[in-house]
Formats: sequence, structure tokens, C-alpha cells
Amino acid sequence: MKYLDEFRDPTAARTLVDHIKKRATRTWTIMEVCGGQTHSIIRNGIDQLLDGAVEFIHGPGCPVCVTPLEMIDRALEIAAREDVIFCSFGDMLRVPGSHHDLFGVRARGGDVRIVYSPLDATRVAADNPDKEVVFFGVGFETTAPANAMAVVHAQRLGLTNFSMLVSHVLVPPAMTAILSSPTNRVEGFLAAGHVCTVMGTGEYGPLVEEFGVPIVVTGFEPLDLLEGVRQVVDLLEAGTPELRNAYPRAVTAAGNTVAQQTLADVFVVTDRQWRGIGMIPKSGWTLSPRYAHFDAELKFGVGHLRVSESAECRSGEVLQGLLKPNECPAFGKTCTPRTPLGATMVSSEGACAAYYQFRRLEAAAHA
Ligand code: SF4
Repeated sequence: MKYLDEFRDPTAARTLVDHIKKRATRTWTIMEVCGGQTHSIIRNGIDQLLDGAVEFIHGPGCPVCVTPLEMIDRALEIAAREDVIFCSFGDMLRVPGSHHDLFGVRARGGDVRIVYSPLDATRVAADNPDKEVVFFGVGFETTAPANAMAVVHAQRLGLTNFSMLVSHVLVPPAMTAILSSPTNRVEGFLAAGHVCTVMGTGEYGPLVEEFGVPIVVTGFEPLDLLEGVRQVVDLLEAGTPELRNAYPRAVTAAGNTVAQQTLADVFVVTDRQWRGIGMIPKSGWTLSPRYAHFDAELKFGVGHLRVSESAECRSGEVLQGLLKPNECPAFGKTCTPRTPLGATMVSSEGACAAYYQFRRLEAAAHA
């Protein structure tokens, strides 16, 4: 398949693996901040191929995983209301709140619907003027433009029964928090290609300057990842931290300026709680005053809800690269995809789910 097969070529992959292994004079610790990249690394065994040259640690790059427990509880409270149709992407429905999940609300008679686009939710609102329709707007800079467009569309349609529960988070502040932590182990970053497709690369240069770590914008196929790692390792070995773009077929320095203008119109930067990590200043978006009437948190008065995370789930450490999923005592025992204790085991992009799905049960037995 064009644009896929050529990035999965085993001969080219072997050449890159050999180069990285020859070039590395020690094991370098590299973090990817994207759940899609985590799954691709584990599914393709890239971490095993590069064993001894690179240790991958998996950052907080899965949007479902970093959505805080209290935000899930806010969603559950809104979704349980009789006058509400609650719309969400499917991956949020199994994320456990304090007591149950959105599937549980649906089982109790709540009108919880899976949609494939936030615009579907505006359609549901237009078709159901006697109901309040709420869309769960979760994710990084990648999903935010479509959510912003849904808000603009709802405004144009004059919908007064549509609102959005916004839980958007931003990648660069999370990288800053990790690099600033006294427990930081990251020596180089693979930046998420799809985030940079929207936002460009301008936010990463200052991080390279401030922390002296190389950052390479990287795609998702095996050769994309290996090329990103090759560039990070070359920069680490040369002692020249730089910002590089190893995903030029999708990413430009400026990014998608039209999307950025819409984002700047609809959202403003806010402090955000990250599940298992805590508050990161200026690390998310909320609706701007101009669109505050679409804010479900304000409309339903659920912003006050605060809960503490489960002590058993150690996803906070997993999301900061301090613990491998199969080093968590609950992994594969009390916590499995069928009985998840944390979002990182539920989400299709979660690191715990990746380790469970792609042969890391055995490693758990030895962890
Ligand atoms: S294995 Fe389960 S309990 Fe452990 S960190 Fe992952 S999601 Fe949490």
C-alpha cells in the first residue's frame, strides 16, 4: 500500500538498526510522547531490536490515559442526567471513573452515544432540540482542531442545546514538566508527528535550548521511528542537541496555520490536571470567553468535582517513564484489558495495553 509499505521495508529497517547499534557507545534513554508511537514501537519489536543501544520510556502521550479521574467523574455525572445525550469517541466509554464508566451509565439507561466526529454531536443536537447534547472533547493538539470546528459550527447553527466537556492537553508543557523533574531520565525525545502537523515545530526549539536535549519530530511507521531514533542517537553521540524534523512528508515548521487560527479563536490556555501526574501549569486548553456558553462544565455546574486517584494504579509513574507497565504489581494480574484499574490499560494507545497486547506478559512474570 502506497505510503505504508515503503515505510515498513525490512531491509531498510535492518540498515537503520545496524547504524544505530554501531553508533551508540552506550544505552541512551529516549522518550516518545505519543501513544500511537508507543504501540508501533512495541508492536514492531523496535525496543527489542535496539536493546543495548536505546532504552525507550513511554511518555504521557495517550490522551485517554492522561484525562484525570475527576474529569471522567464529571462526564459520568452529566451523562447520567435524564435530559442529556452524551456523545463521545468510543475509547472513553471504558475508562474507569471513581465507581463506574460511561458504559455503566448507558447500562443504567443513560443516553450515551459513540460518535466518530464531534460534528456528529452537533447533528445530534440539531435533531434533538428538546435534549441537551454534550460532546466529550478530549485529546492533544491533534484532536483539538476538529473539536474547535464543532464549536464554531454549533455557533453558526445557533445551537443552544449543544455543549462540550473540554479536557484538552498540550504536549510541550508536559515535556517541560518531565525535563524539569528531579527524577527525569530522558536524554532525547521523539516528538509526535501528528501534533507537529497541526502546531509546527516552533514550540520545541526553546526546549532544546533550555534543557540541552535533542528533539526529533518523528512519524509512526517502523522506518519513521527508526529514522527518528537514528537522528536522536547521532545528535546524542555528537553532543549537539538540536531540533530536527524526521517526518517532513507531513510536518512543516509552520504547521497548519488555518487550524492554529481556529484553535486560537475557540480555546485559551489553562492549567490542567494530568491523570497520575497532577497539575501542570498552562498545559491545556479550555473554551475562550467568546465560546464559554458551550462549556459543559459551566452549564452543568460540575467543575467543583475533585477526587483522588487510585493508590493501586501506578500509571502516573508509567506516564512519566519511571516505571515500565510490566513492573507494576497489578499488571496482568488484577489489571488486564478486561479488568482495567487504570486508563493506560483501557486505551488503544495506552502503554499498559500495549505491553499486555504485544507479548509482554512473559516479561511481567520476571519483573
Ligand atoms: S498495569 Fe494497570 S494498575 Fe498498573 S499502572 Fe497500568 S493501568 Fe495502572
